[in-house]
Amino acid sequence: MSVLQADSDKLLTAVARLLHEKNIVSPDEITERRAFTDAANPGQGARMVARAWVDAEYRALMLADGAKAAEALDIPMRGMPPLGVLENTPLLHHLVVCTLCSCYPRAVLGYPPFWFKSAAYRAKAVRDPRGLLADWGTRIQAEVQVRVVDSTADYRWMVLPVRPVGTEGWDEARLAKIVRDGDMIGVTVPSA
Ligand code: FE
Repeated sequence: MSVLQADSDKLLTAVARLLHEKNIVSPDEITERRAFTDAANPGQGARMVARAWVDAEYRALMLADGAKAAEALDIPMRGMPPLGVLENTPLLHHLVVCTLCSCYPRAVLGYPPFWFKSAAYRAKAVRDPRGLLADWGTRIQAEVQVRVVDSTADYRWMVLPVRPVGTEGWDEARLAKIVRDGDMIGVTVPSA
């Protein structure tokens, strides 16, 4: 272990002890949150997207308050920052980035993939979002506006993609299977 890691471990232990002493967060709550985060995966966000595609009331809830919509599908959100949901339309495409570091909607998608944390992604998402989408093989028509949204420690974002053509009549479970993590960050779009 490097000196830097040893120091960061000491700092972490000291902060956790203070949070407990001041009755802000207990060790049990930290353990619980870690277990939820370890278990989180893109299938959770995909269930939300699929529900929003078939249920207008749920869609409205999801756009108003992502955390409440997650909890409505038994996805634990306690201790997590608020979750905003960005609605893609045929004329508006959202791309999520954390320009500073790696802030990702972990509660609903799990740990951030390596590319989301990379300096290359974070820089190009801001400088040249259309070029970045082209790198991913994602074709966005010229008339579609691309909005880049910065995810932060205080507020996380996920994308509600447009339901792809050719999925008419599909049930929720089948729809959820075609939704990938990249679709909910906006680097890709789902297809049937
Ligand atoms: Fe970050």
